[in-house]
Amino acid sequence: MTPAELVSVIRTIPDFPKPGIVFRDITTLIANGPALSATIAHLAALAGRIGVETIAAVEARGFIIGAALANQLCCGLIPLRKPGKLPVPTVGVDYSLEYGTARLELDPGMMRPGQRVLLVDDLIATGGTALAGLELLRGTGASVDHALFVVDLPDLGGADALRHAGVEVASLMSFP
Ligand code: IMP
Repeated sequence: MTPAELVSVIRTIPDFPKPGIVFRDITTLIANGPALSATIAHLAALAGRIGVETIAAVEARGFIIGAALANQLCCGLIPLRKPGKLPVPTVGVDYSLEYGTARLELDPGMMRPGQRVLLVDDLIATGGTALAGLELLRGTGASVDHALFVVDLPDLGGADALRHAGVEVASLMSFP
């Protein structure tokens, strides 16, 4: 399936999780074998040009995409977790979401300075989540020059904000 064909597999839910929010749901893509396989193949083709050592993925839907992509690229995955989930001392960043506030945490012991990390999530909207992940990873000395998403919501400006922070951003599809 081409990225254009994958668009039709994404489910759109109006007024979730709050009135006025149009939620793009990748659950239907993940449940569709050929669509998931094509998604990972397209992302792997983009990532293959980058020279990635490690993927860092955002909990929770980012883990699904990130783990499948890491498997394809034969690299490891560093989880960027919601608060209180990691069993070791963490570093964390609080940030604002399209609908609320949140925090991401990372085990700094998993990182080494200069490690080339590819940031992965299912979707980028305002960019708050990805920028928090970027701050966390760069805070450990990692080198984060690229980020990949299945879906971009460009009108919310997240991809541009990431680019402004020096990250090359790619996604398979965008919803205006
Ligand atoms: P941002 O921080 O505003 O860029 O929002 C991106 C994060 O929130 C990602 O981790 C997404 O999983 C989640 N998210 C925000 N909006 C949507 C949506 O419409 N569909 C699915 N996930 C979303």
